[in-house]
Amino acid sequence: ATAPIARVSGCELQVPLVAGGTCRYANFDYAASAPALELVTQRVTELLPTYASVHRGAGFASRVSTDAYEGARATVARFVNAADDQVVVFTRNTTDSLNLLAGCVPGDTVVLDVEHHANLLPWKKNGRRVVEAADTIEETVRRLIAELCTKPAALVAITGASNVTGEVLPIERIATIAHRCGARILVDGAQLLPHRRIDLIACGVDYLAFSGHKLYAPFGAGVLVGRRDWLDAAEPYLAGGGAVQEVTLTETRWAPAPQRHEAGSPNVLGVAAIAAACEALCDIGSAATTKHERALADRLRGGLDAIDGVHQLRLWADCDESVGIVTFTVDGFQPGQVAAYLSAEHGIGVRDGRFCAHPVLARLGLPGAVRASLGLGSCADDVDRLMSAVSTLVEQGPSREYAKTDGHWNP
Ligand code: PMP
Repeated sequence: ATAPIARVSGCELQVPLVAGGTCRYANFDYAASAPALELVTQRVTELLPTYASVHRGAGFASRVSTDAYEGARATVARFVNAADDQVVVFTRNTTDSLNLLAGCVPGDTVVLDVEHHANLLPWKKNGRRVVEAADTIEETVRRLIAELCTKPAALVAITGASNVTGEVLPIERIATIAHRCGARILVDGAQLLPHRRIDLIACGVDYLAFSGHKLYAPFGAGVLVGRRDWLDAAEPYLAGGGAVQEVTLTETRWAPAPQRHEAGSPNVLGVAAIAAACEALCDIGSAATTKHERALADRLRGGLDAIDGVHQLRLWADCDESVGIVTFTVDGFQPGQVAAYLSAEHGIGVRDGRFCAHPVLARLGLPGAVRASLGLGSCADDVDRLMSAVSTLVEQGPSREYAKTDGHWNP
């Protein structure tokens, strides 16, 4: 049976069951936030006793923190193979990275209608043009080309992997098309990076955004990597200390990127955690990660396929690559009911709803769905528990009534 390929925090968590007693928590919510890898926990614990102000002190602790912070920048740059003209800016999360970049783009941005809200809403500020995705990737790419040929754009902002279905887009190909049409490309890597390495130089990607908390590090730190010229020319994202070279009461000379967009005392623990996660993921290897997740996702997809009344979501008929996300509906049950049942009766944690992608669910004609997402700590036993729980629900129904109170389903 496929065992976890890394130890993650909470892997032995016992959770209460509604019938009484407890069971080991089966985490199927990696796509929302992934538990911390061991190396991440270790690095944060090591740094805690000495964390201090970064770039702002001469004392020992400040120097340790500054080294950790700038060392993390170099580690992240290596992790994504950034080019010499690309800088790593530390942010709070993917949403923050995308809003930052939205303030730097000198022209229109073209997006697909299948994006997470974080890669849809910020672009409203600068002439956002939304291309409706087709039922196949081939036709979707053709539509993107037609849009870019009709009217030039500065940027194509596209997700690496859908947070609703896990389907992976052909980034390299879209980057080539964007460049041919005079545009740059941003990849929302929030869902791709935890599962696949991305090589910015090889893929021709100009900008990449991702979150620490989806990459096996805790909350509060994220990354924007990208070409320096737009970042240097733009207004600073936040005005404040650390982003400047010289200030008088009448004039401000801003620093270049990355400091330009990192005003305020930086989150050194969050950033060190991201760097530790990058190192741990390199050690595990992208091929091993893909193999592990593919085996489990295939097992889950196959198992759910065999249950009557369970329907899996897909956006593209010709998409043959996806990360470990399996999203489904169960006839006769609302997604929130299914999620509450799985948690209360089986100790299984999934996500339900519209996944901050309302247009995607509208496109699929669904009010919501249930998302089971996998990661390095997932195992075949948990997949089997999930399949058997769904099967029991379909055949026998839940063991008790579920009702919605205060917006949440409860037994
Ligand atoms: N993009 C995608 C594809 C996501 O899945 C998410 C998180 N669900 C985000 C962006 C936003 O990430 P964060 O909440 O960490 O800013």
